[in-house]
Order: sequence, then structure tokens, then C-alpha cells
Amino acid sequence: MHTGCSGTRLRGFRAGDGKSMGSQGGIGLDRQKHEPDFQRVRVFLFLGEIILDMELEYDMPVKNLCGTCTRCIDACPTKALKPYTLDSRKCIACLTIEHRSDIPAAFKNQWTGWIFGCDISEEVCPWNKKAKLHSEKDFQPLSEISLFTKSNWENLTSEVFEKIFRKSPLKRTGFEGVKRNMEFLKSSD
Ligand code: SF4
Ligand code: SF4
Repeated sequence: MHTGCSGTRLRGFRAGDGKSMGSQGGIGLDRQKHEPDFQRVRVFLFLGEIILDMELEYDMPVKNLCGTCTRCIDACPTKALKPYTLDSRKCIACLTIEHRSDIPAAFKNQWTGWIFGCDISEEVCPWNKKAKLHSEKDFQPLSEISLFTKSNWENLTSEVFEKIFRKSPLKRTGFEGVKRNMEFLKSSD
């Protein structure tokens, strides 16, 4: 999910490492990189699971369709991706969402704009060009932030954050985490 303001981007949620779930379950492509690339829905999706005590009919695992492509590896600003490997310690998504202390200074100037997650590897994947837009209203960007400017983000207060994001994935980092991420980008300028 991207905001409408220039220079600041965030992601609504992150599916995590769904590679084995997606590919082994027959709903995705087990490519040479970390992402589950889904033949029908591509990688912009929300993964979930249901635990059942009944036998189901299984799909077959799907094949690797990356071929010689290395676009996601080449595009990753922090070099977190290697063939078949994601170093989560370097991944912007992990650093801006899961990391609990200051973002290490070594990452300064390695990316711009992302304040909650990162979609770069998904955006460059040619398979995603064929993705169909979802029609799930709960996945639409929050209307309150669609017109947010950079200044709105920079002047965001904890009260406004709580009001707008109280039911959103941004609660994972909380107001302090989003502020930390913005300060980190600012200090990289
Ligand atoms: S999400 Fe961003 S930082 Fe993480 S591996 Fe993909 S491109 Fe690299
Ligand atoms: S960008 Fe290329 S290498 Fe990366 S997942 Fe997509 S097809 Fe595979």
C-alpha cells in the first residue's frame, strides 16, 4: 500500500515467508527468490491459514518459473536477496516493521520513502504485471490517508495515529515505530 504523498511509502501488511506454503500447496510459484509468486493471484496477497481436522484434496507443488530472471535480486536496495535466500536482517520490511530498536546506521541512504514495509521486489516482478486487482474492500487503502502529504506524515501525532490506524497493521510498530522509521529516513537525507 502506498500513500498518496510524495517521498513517503508504506505497506499495509506483509504476508511473511509464504514460499513453502504457497508453492508446496500448489497455489504459488516456488521461484528462485524469497517470494511466493502466485500463478493466479501473484504476490500481492494476504496469506492465511485454516486448521482443520479433515482430509482435503491437495494440489501439486508448482514449478519454478523465474528462469534466468534476477530482477528482484538486482532491485533490492539492501542486497537482502540472494538466489533462494532472503537475509531478513537486511530486509526493509523487517527493519521497518519487526525490528525493535534503532535501525542500524549502516543502512543509512540505502533506501528512500519506505516507512512501513517494502514492495520493491514485488513491483519489479514481471509476473505481477499480469496480476488482477483485488475487489476486497477491506484491503483498500484507508481513505483518511489517501490524501496525506509528506507534511501530514511528518506532523502526525499519537492521537491522530491512534484514531486512523487503531485497526490497521501499523499498530504492529505503533506510533513510535513509524516515527522512528521516518526519523531514520530524514537522517539519511
Ligand atoms: S522487501 Fe524490499 S528490502 Fe526486502 S528483500 Fe524485497 S526488495 Fe529487498
Ligand atoms: S522478479 Fe524475476 S527472479 Fe524475482 S520472483 Fe519475479 S520472476 Fe522470479
